[in-house]
Amino acid sequence: MRNMHLHSLDLCLGEARAAETLGAKVFENSKVMHIEHGPRSRVVTESGSVQTDQVLIAGNALHLLEQKALGGALFPASLANMATAPLSAAQVEAINPHNLAVYDCRFVLDYYRLTADKRPMFGSGTNYSGRPTTDGAAELRPAMERTFPQLKGISIDYAWNCSDGIIANRIPHVGRAAANIMFIQGYSGRGIGLTHIMAEIAAQAMTGDTKEFDLFAGVKHLKLPFARSFGSQIQAFGMGFYALARHASLSAVLVPKAVIPTAAANGSIV
Ligand SMILES: Cc1cc2nc3c(=O)[nH]c(=O)nc-3n(C[C@H](O)[C@H](O)[C@H](O)COP(=O)(O)OP(=O)(O)OC[C@H]3O[C@@H](n4cnc5c(N)ncnc54)[C@H](O)[C@@H]3O)c2cc1C
Repeated sequence: MRNMHLHSLDLCLGEARAAETLGAKVFENSKVMHIEHGPRSRVVTESGSVQTDQVLIAGNALHLLEQKALGGALFPASLANMATAPLSAAQVEAINPHNLAVYDCRFVLDYYRLTADKRPMFGSGTNYSGRPTTDGAAELRPAMERTFPQLKGISIDYAWNCSDGIIANRIPHVGRAAANIMFIQGYSGRGIGLTHIMAEIAAQAMTGDTKEFDLFAGVKHLKLPFARSFGSQIQAFGMGFYALARHASLSAVLVPKAVIPTAAANGSIV
């Protein structure tokens, strides 16, 4: 109905509400500092702890828990989004007359649509170096203006960003830090759909059916034996390579032809 775009914060709030009606308890602002392993593991927060039969770690790029099992596989990339000032009817007609939501099929992709009050909302990966975006509006403006030269100089009213976890082979990283401590992470910019699939698979595993969880846990992942910061630099180099390679003139020199369609196909997973 909306070209496969949705309001992800509304989705998150609605799902939290639905979970609470089923008896789940949500504790915000309770950062887990470490997990004590045992037949019943203890999850220790800044101000308390919970002892439990099973733990599922799903904190993605925002923590460094259980690095023995999780370290070296996931690297944070900063993804950003912004919205400009509202457009006039003539500007809307010029850039998006059918009110479509768009994402392109490049490896490092851009995606955009109009908000209800006709602001172009434009998102992209701003950097893969592991450092957070400091000024999302400034970092996204060149890509937005390349796509829509008609909007050159328009004011950017809102910008926001966060880290997502990138996995080298783009397959979610799934496994166990101990028999009763599972983890799912790493959606490489595509977590809105994938988190729901992986959460269902993890829920099945926690209630006794481990078939699909074990299938994902068996996937071999590249794990870099360096600190996250250095791994991020290597990843940034790789992403830069693909960004260059997608320019036809360079791709002929740099990459065997077969590699380009594969990268494009990865970039267009819905
Ligand atoms: C700007 C932007 C645009 C994006 N656009 C898209 C898109 O168009 N389509 C798409 O599919 N995906 C998109 N993504 C990616 C998607 O948002 C992520 O892949 C997805 O949110 C990952 O879900 P998650 O639940 O694994 O992790 P997160 O959503 O990162 O949630 C992790 C949670 O764990 C909590 N946490 C972390 N550490 C701790 C700790 N120590 N103790 C307690 N809690 C902790 C965090 O507070 C957070 O609530 C985008 C991401 C960004 C930032």
